[in-house]
Amino acid sequence: MKLNMLKYTEIKEYLKEKDSLLIPIGTCEQHGLHLPLCTDTIVAEKMCDEISDKYGILVAPTVNYGINLPLDNNTMTGTTGISYEVLKETLRSITEYWNKQGFKHFFAVSCHGDIFHIKALQDSSKNIEVIETYEVEQKDLLEKQVCTRHACESETSVMLYLYPELVDMSVARDFDISIDIFMPYLEHKKTEVIDGYIGNVGYSTLATREKGKAIYERMLKNLENVIKNVGVI
Ligand SMILES: [Zn+2]
Repeated sequence: MKLNMLKYTEIKEYLKEKDSLLIPIGTCEQHGLHLPLCTDTIVAEKMCDEISDKYGILVAPTVNYGINLPLDNNTMTGTTGISYEVLKETLRSITEYWNKQGFKHFFAVSCHGDIFHIKALQDSSKNIEVIETYEVEQKDLLEKQVCTRHACESETSVMLYLYPELVDMSVARDFDISIDIFMPYLEHKKTEVIDGYIGNVGYSTLATREKGKAIYERMLKNLENVIKNVGVI
């Protein structure tokens, strides 16, 4: 159930029963040779829609831009983003109006784990719970990774499960880099091109629909648990 598909009188009625809002947080970010730029966005939207269908919580319009690695903004065509201040202020502003009208709990659902991106969301309001969707145990499900990296064994698997028509496995390639070398990039301190970098970090070619189903189910369960812990479902 989308908030912006309702009339304001219907939202007034909703607020007599509930005071929560799911906010999908997207990015416009490259996802390697084999996945589209909307990958983070459509997975976050799908998760919000499923929780909404199950528990009747409204879903806000998606925030379509986030904070990317400077490396990607500089070198990966089509990738773009906003600053920490702009993302934080956007969330602060939109939730402040909704808060005045009676919404008390906001769930920002992000499939993108950039440290500045997550911090901007967390710093935006005391009423926001930020869910990093891929932060679930998956070591037992993956062959060559212990967690989600980027457009990798894990993320590609989830896309193969949810949106197989958007995945081109014929061009998927693996790219690994040690965390020590990559850390300055993750901290936005280094921006120069890395030899052999094609966008993804991790073992995309090992992705399967079955792994994706198992990972996605854990992601959804985790989101559900966060909302349950807040006590609104
Ligand atoms: Zn992603």
